[in-house]
Amino acid sequence: MLLRWQGSDASLKPVLLTGHYDVVPVIPGTEEDWTHPPFDGVVADGIVWGRGALDDKSAVVAQLEAAAAILAKGFKPRRTIYFSFGHDEEVGGRRGAGGVVELLKLQGVSLDWSLDEGSFLMDGMMDGIEPLIAPINVAEKGYLTLEIVARGDGGHSSMPPAQTAVGVLAEAISKLEASPLPGGLDGVSGEMFDAISRHMDFTYRIAFANRWLFNSVLEDQLDNTTFGNAMLRTTTAPTMLSGSIKANVLPIEAIATVNFRLHPRDSVEGVINHVKRAVSHDKVEVRTANNEPGGGASKVSDWTSPGFSVIGRSVREIYPSSVIVPGIMIAASDTRHYGQIADNSFRFNPIIVTPEVMTGFHGTDERIPVEHLVNAVRIYMRILEHAGGG
Ligand SMILES: [Zn+2]
Repeated sequence: MLLRWQGSDASLKPVLLTGHYDVVPVIPGTEEDWTHPPFDGVVADGIVWGRGALDDKSAVVAQLEAAAAILAKGFKPRRTIYFSFGHDEEVGGRRGAGGVVELLKLQGVSLDWSLDEGSFLMDGMMDGIEPLIAPINVAEKGYLTLEIVARGDGGHSSMPPAQTAVGVLAEAISKLEASPLPGGLDGVSGEMFDAISRHMDFTYRIAFANRWLFNSVLEDQLDNTTFGNAMLRTTTAPTMLSGSIKANVLPIEAIATVNFRLHPRDSVEGVINHVKRAVSHDKVEVRTANNEPGGGASKVSDWTSPGFSVIGRSVREIYPSSVIVPGIMIAASDTRHYGQIADNSFRFNPIIVTPEVMTGFHGTDERIPVEHLVNAVRIYMRILEHAGGG
């Protein structure tokens, strides 16, 4: 669904706000674990319950409510504003966002910036940080799945060789885990942690203020958390294994599936070469997995550009003490499509989440307090007013 709100000044490049209204399923058998049924849209005790409350119907609803509210006030944009709402984001967005982008390309539309789902306003998500952190994601990690294949001679398990294909594969996996992709506090990762560190305790503040001296200590510290590790580098996650089809048959091949999320500094070829070097062995082969999406990270948008400051300023007008930082999106979004026609792309939901609420994201008891939803409407109103220019 694509809506255009025509601006009065054709010399201004349009902006696009987007969200998606499809959702992931509820895992069969877990319906009973929900406090309220996942698809009933129950509002109880000041909370909206249901699948999509966070991802991403809340953004769609809040953007439309915000548009209606400023329309009612008589707002007329100078800059053209697009709203685009996809129905297939969770399965790649090819027909929804992909189709919209094809149409806009045909019409020769080029966007100043776009705003899609992304990070939330984080409350208590990082140890020892008091204020709300608003990471406005300026990049999206890439996605790659590789198979590591170890070969053996096969035969009966009663007369095995010293090492079967399974043993060779196990060694390859431990070598791979022992050689993570290089990472560090450069570019957007460094900018993000620099800004956050000003709100950390004294030791961290000193360390970040003197990165020339403490950089490797800080990187080690951040590496020890799964969040920090994901922000600093391309991650490596062995996820699936297969070997022989029967307990008493030696495997001819054993296969491990490994999923990578690419940091903007790494290319697909670079990761494949790194893995080949790490697991190097005459009986081991590395290949890309069939039927898996893949691709490098997105380009990195400019966090000193006007679009970024419009979003940040709007957040701070509603939550004055929040800390605005550029971030990297770990998951995928429809912006892989919209980014093709936008000078800059941002990914952020102006909704407060706590670690407790976050478990509902693609999980059980997805929910959002009404108060946070209403504040999201207020923030989108500011974004539209500032971007549209009245
Ligand atoms: Zn989503």
